[in-house]
Amino acid sequence: MLAYIETYGCAFAQAESEIIAGMLAKHGFAIVSSPDVADVLIIVTCHVKEATENKVIYRIRELCRKYPKKPLLVYGCLPRAYPEKVRKACERASLVGNFNLREIPKAVKQALQGERVELLSEIPESKLGLPRIKRNPVIGIVPIAEGCLCSCAYCSTKLSRGEIFSFSPEEIVKEIKHLLKTGCKEIWLTAQDCACYGFDIGTNLAELLQKICKLSQKFFVRVGMLNPLHVKKILPELLQAYENEKIYKFLHLPVQSGSNKILYAMHRRYNVSDFLGVIKTFRERFPFLQLWTDIIVGFPGETEKDFEATKKLLLDIKPDWVNVSKFSVRERTEAAKLKQISTKIKKQRSRELSEIVRELGKKANEKWVGWCGEALVDEKGKYGYVARNFAYKPIVLKADENLLGKFLKVKVVKAESFLFGEILKISSINYRNINKSNPMLSVTALDQ
Ligand code: SF4
Repeated sequence: MLAYIETYGCAFAQAESEIIAGMLAKHGFAIVSSPDVADVLIIVTCHVKEATENKVIYRIRELCRKYPKKPLLVYGCLPRAYPEKVRKACERASLVGNFNLREIPKAVKQALQGERVELLSEIPESKLGLPRIKRNPVIGIVPIAEGCLCSCAYCSTKLSRGEIFSFSPEEIVKEIKHLLKTGCKEIWLTAQDCACYGFDIGTNLAELLQKICKLSQKFFVRVGMLNPLHVKKILPELLQAYENEKIYKFLHLPVQSGSNKILYAMHRRYNVSDFLGVIKTFRERFPFLQLWTDIIVGFPGETEKDFEATKKLLLDIKPDWVNVSKFSVRERTEAAKLKQISTKIKKQRSRELSEIVRELGKKANEKWVGWCGEALVDEKGKYGYVARNFAYKPIVLKADENLLGKFLKVKVVKAESFLFGEILKISSINYRNINKSNPMLSVTALDQ
């Protein structure tokens, strides 16, 4: 039997998609890359923004219409949060919510026998210890928790992922051990909010990182998105955990707005100075930290003054990257009831901010020109191989041979929207000799 899987959404959804492929393979299915040749179609869904949801629903309709004889399974966030939308898009589709991941093989078999299945459990379960087919052999995406502890006024993810449900540290470490054995060199820890990991089971992210770093193999860990609200609670321990060379000096701290008034209306439960405090403390310890943040423009009530505050905040903190989203109404959220800002204003603010972000990104890149050190090649992109250094900075390398999964000594020679580098021929760099408070000082030593 042949199964086709199409995936939308975040790293968490990507991990679920890999697990679906792995479980089906274990049940004798082959995974194919075209719906034309498949016996069953599976779509892993996302509804985080209106535009994403529309795209997913369009695709469900299309698959439903184009392949009327093939069973279609709609998995994940969309059927759990808005099942009626899936039923409307394709009456005959089976719905499997994200708390029913383990039942996918059974559901697929039932669908192949002509049954229409609906599995929409309310009870979360661990997503570890399951088979996988990885898309990228170097990267192991590890879900550490599902759901979160917040109730942001704009967010619909809570409807699908629910309250925080942390997976046990032992299970996580076991999963990572297994992934390393299969050839992974980079582990992505993923959750809707990694910062509140463990609060429901009497542990926290810092303790988890310490446990992971005890594994003896050579690998890097990318910590996923952290809500500033919860980072504040574990800051000293988290900084201590980040000291380990296995943890990328990479911080994804979504602020969402530079205006305290808007943050309050969003129910983010922190203010701009809390956010700035976390960044300052991190940067004091790790000056070459790579910083990402997220901004929502056009949240109901956002005035020109609020927007100016957001612009100023970005110009002050100079992040490496910012995910800019135009606010979109998500049904069954609090913000849906508020008076909305016009699309024209949202578009204009988004354009303006994206321009600033591009410039800031280029500036942030310039400081890396001349840097040399160790980097892990973790993907093959449009412009060549991409290697990540200790700060998870992507460095594009040109090479004919297969570099995927290799730790190389590289030098950054050019900075544009990306960093471009060359492979150094020098034999070895002692990782431990890299000056942690100023890694650029290590560069000079290496250059000589
Ligand atoms: S958790 Fe959020 S971003 Fe990830 S797939 Fe679900 S809705 Fe999309």
